[in-house]
Amino acid sequence: MPASTIALERFQTNIKLVPNFERKCVCWIWQGETVKGGYARFRPEGSEKKVLVHRWAYEHFIGPIPAGKELDHFRCDTPGCVKPTHVRPVTALENTHRAKHHNANKTHCKHGHAFSRRNTYWQVSVKREKPYQTRRCRTCLGIPLLPVTLATLTTRRQQWQDDRTAAGG
Ligand SMILES: [Zn+2]
Ligand SMILES: [Zn+2]
Repeated sequence: MPASTIALERFQTNIKLVPNFERKCVCWIWQGETVKGGYARFRPEGSEKKVLVHRWAYEHFIGPIPAGKELDHFRCDTPGCVKPTHVRPVTALENTHRAKHHNANKTHCKHGHAFSRRNTYWQVSVKREKPYQTRRCRTCLGIPLLPVTLATLTTRRQQWQDDRTAAGG
């Protein structure tokens, strides 16, 4: 479905180019309305209902989304990104699988704070009578970071000494 010029203009004025240092790409971050999960939404000119912007952009710039497929932000893992080349159609199953895998490998929280040992809060929850842990960001939760332990200091000192030795004293 070709988009109207007005819809395209609205799309262009609502995006901001934001460098994603972790993934070494530049995202088009939506500045307008977002919904649960961080996905962007707007109502294109002439359309009755609101649509998800990344889906709209994909169909406008690349082509129809195959029936039954979802768009996966495979490039940047940023739900609010609407750059058509940062998403690809996948099955719902593939999407969930990759999202799970990605969560375990995240190095930063969604606000960009590193999941360092000190900044990580392991939240214990119970699902179907089984406890499991999820990583939460201490900075975002507003709880103190873990103190630097003696062990960490010793390691750092050792590292420093090793470096000096390697550098010839
Ligand atoms: Zn992106
Ligand atoms: Zn954070």
